[in-house]
Amino acid sequence: MENQTSSIVQRSLDALLEDDTFLPDLKGKTREQAFTSLGAILSTPNHVHKSFLRIPLEDGQVVRIPAFRVQHINALGPYKGGIRFHESVNEDEVINLASLMTLKNALHDVPFGGGKGGVVLNPRTHTIKELNLICKKYVRYFNDILGPDKDIPAPDVGSSDREMDWMMSEYKSINPGLPYRGSFTGKSVVNGGSLGRGAATGKGVYFTFRYMIDDFMKKHTNLLSNSDNIFARTVLDYKSRPLTIAVQGFGNVGSVAALEAFNCSQLQNKVIAVSDRNVTLYNAKGLDIPALVKFTLDNNGDLPTTNEQLAQTGVNAELHDREEILFLDVDCIILAALADQIHKGNMDKIKARIIVEGANAPVTSEADNFLSEKGIIIVPDILANAGGVIVSYYEWLQGRETQFYSEEEVFKLLYNKMQSTMDTILPKFFSDPFPLRQNCYIHSVMKLSTVLYRQGKLY
Ligand code: GLU
Repeated sequence: MENQTSSIVQRSLDALLEDDTFLPDLKGKTREQAFTSLGAILSTPNHVHKSFLRIPLEDGQVVRIPAFRVQHINALGPYKGGIRFHESVNEDEVINLASLMTLKNALHDVPFGGGKGGVVLNPRTHTIKELNLICKKYVRYFNDILGPDKDIPAPDVGSSDREMDWMMSEYKSINPGLPYRGSFTGKSVVNGGSLGRGAATGKGVYFTFRYMIDDFMKKHTNLLSNSDNIFARTVLDYKSRPLTIAVQGFGNVGSVAALEAFNCSQLQNKVIAVSDRNVTLYNAKGLDIPALVKFTLDNNGDLPTTNEQLAQTGVNAELHDREEILFLDVDCIILAALADQIHKGNMDKIKARIIVEGANAPVTSEADNFLSEKGIIIVPDILANAGGVIVSYYEWLQGRETQFYSEEEVFKLLYNKMQSTMDTILPKFFSDPFPLRQNCYIHSVMKLSTVLYRQGKLY
């Protein structure tokens, strides 16, 4: 994955430098210097930790598995971000993902900094005992830099509540007597996790889409008169027909977002395609998402790949190549698989009018510029997929208070937070010329810059 984050941060700083209502005390040469310093600070992580975990495999062989923890900026609070288990993990990618976490937390007023971890492996090729040992070793190797007030990991691609439970338990054993509940989030509920954390990212992704297209627009009907705006056109269109949605990726984020869309009574929409690492399923009349979710639960997370399996689920769908989902003529595509899915090689084939980033960085910067110039709305990762870290924050709080909230309370807190971010960002998006991603970055960079300035970090 390329590092598109720092170039957008730089563009945000350039725009803010010109805005003399922002940090008005800084003038002339001092102002220029402060903005150059901010560029240096925000584009570089504080720490990159790397270790090679020594793992005896069950067949007797001993391997060294590369593992990372990147700590980007902690001006707003302890570092926070998931640990990714994937064979393509590399240092640059983890650095970029850590900086996205800093921006994401700043955007939604979550009092954390940005961090990210990664382990270079394919979890499907390891036994459960090996995975357990890898998790324990990760904590042993990085113990000194982790902790509820230092750096708090969570699940990411390839990891889940199971891994967080193992890691928290290892942290607790190594650090007897120290607070441990807030050392990891995304744990299972019996182990101190929050109700609703599992579904939080997917629910937040769909909520973002629904809020933008419906709730927000109902409050700002004047915006609908701007027919140059694809958003306004899409909203007007959907009054006369259901919106069509495609969802790339049917894991923890995609399947929940698809189910939310399926069950939504507020907005008329239908999910006409879903995909995973094997296949795209398509039905112009809409797919039976609950039946597909049920199938994946019994089949190692995979969607049906044959007509026999489809018949078994009772789902009516055409089978296509997995890539084809990207090129469908839909109102909205939710990208909930991996990074770099829309890129230079396929960007001209995209027909969707709205792209919602459920995964982190699924659109490369080249494709981002190309599609934004065509007027396609890209709802960026740091806005749309923050449900996970927002509920992680509430999990961390519940662990501190040892008071646990109901699922209903958790989702209310989640939606309130996402709504308040959108109520701040969207009016600006409609009134200035920047794409939505740039608007979100400007907001985060403003917050981080003000805090760094006030903490005396720019002298
Ligand atoms: N891995 C998720 C993300 O990229 C969640 C991070 C967290 O809960 O700390 O936002």
